[in-house]
Amino acid sequence: MPNPTVKEVETRLATVQCAICKGSSFGIDERFMQADGEWRGICRKCYYTFPIYTDMEFYLRTQPDIPYRLKEMSCPTCNQRGVSLNFRITMSVRESIYFLTCTACQKTYPERSSLEAFE
Ligand SMILES: [Zn+2]
Ligand SMILES: [Zn+2]
Repeated sequence: MPNPTVKEVETRLATVQCAICKGSSFGIDERFMQADGEWRGICRKCYYTFPIYTDMEFYLRTQPDIPYRLKEMSCPTCNQRGVSLNFRITMSVRESIYFLTCTACQKTYPERSSLEAFE
């Protein structure tokens, strides 16, 4: 699973809303990019920042339940089961969002995480 590029992450962040101002234009603050794949997203409107986690290989290794959940999740477009996790963000303390790609039709979409509730 290749790690996503900055451009890709920025494009896909436009599909979710800022926890503070509900805007959906975000950038990546490249000064805060860390070697372990943790990035910092910033709302272009209110400058709210939040962590982005891009090292999903590591995440899936440490959260063995999640690959199983991903296989069970169905795509909102084609209804086939099975998605891959591209990256995730913590938009607020209560809101974690997964950015997924359907393995069948390659459609990408964000999904509010209910996965963590199972931990
Ligand atoms: Zn904002
Ligand atoms: Zn699909």
